[in-house]
Amino acid sequence: MPETSHPVELSPPDISPYRKGNTGIDYVHSFRAAVPGPHVLVNALTHGNEICGAIAVDFLFRHDLRPLKGTLTLGFANVAAYETFDTANPGASRFVDEDFNRVWTRDDLDGPRQSAELARAREMRAVIEQADYLLDLHSMQTPSKPLMLVHGLEKERRLARRVGYPETVVCGPGHVKGLRMIEYEPFNDTANDKTALLVECGQHWQSGTAAVAIDTALYFLKALGVIEPSFADSHLTVNPPGEQRMLEVTDGVTARTDTFRFVERFTGLEEIPTAGTVIATDGGLEITTPHDDCVLIMPSYRAEAGSRMVRFGRWIG
Ligand SMILES: [Zn+2]
Repeated sequence: MPETSHPVELSPPDISPYRKGNTGIDYVHSFRAAVPGPHVLVNALTHGNEICGAIAVDFLFRHDLRPLKGTLTLGFANVAAYETFDTANPGASRFVDEDFNRVWTRDDLDGPRQSAELARAREMRAVIEQADYLLDLHSMQTPSKPLMLVHGLEKERRLARRVGYPETVVCGPGHVKGLRMIEYEPFNDTANDKTALLVECGQHWQSGTAAVAIDTALYFLKALGVIEPSFADSHLTVNPPGEQRMLEVTDGVTARTDTFRFVERFTGLEEIPTAGTVIATDGGLEITTPHDDCVLIMPSYRAEAGSRMVRFGRWIG
């Protein structure tokens, strides 16, 4: 199921009116309340092809949302990639030179390496370091149910529970290469309360994905006491799920070859009862589940040696 085979039902909004920010950083706006409170950041377009985030942040702008307390920052990250979005080839705009969501290490940010994404990350890092709470809006290749992803720290699990949406929370490390924005040092430090969440809202271009992005942003801002609950309630399209379910990432599979293939068209959250079940082949190698009741998380159909192809997990709690 190549992602590009999914019809593009969403339209990328025109975000050019938001270019001139009031933070000194293009496409990043901060609004400060008179009442002190946390600095809350809602970020879209870490991946340029994940347009649901742009739709959600555009929605917050168009409703002139202002914080009741503290600071609310709204940002569009990889605008250079987003500007190349082409409905005829919608997967191509994920990034310009490299994945913006792998560069969040001090070594990369302070190092000599240059790329479009590193330049943008260096521009944005000051505001990201100021944020107490970050919601990073993403979408997936497959039409999986939405997932809240956290690195696994207790403060992250706590915030995910407070937000209460979406229903499924995935706890565990992300990728083999580099660090995601939510894993950037200030958020990954257990000595402070800074906390970042990443939501995967659904298939990149499926119409319902945008509603999930807006709902998640509203639940997030409401949980942090940043917006009028009545504003959130009047725009939410879903009720919060009763009980959230948490998945612990137990392992991950990295492709050895460019010919990695799943044996079925998994979309994510399939539960494989028996350890040792073959789920994919990679070159001549069979890829099997490492334990019983193994849940497949975010299968990737972008086969490339060195890339994370799927994560394994186990329901907890
Ligand atoms: Zn993404």
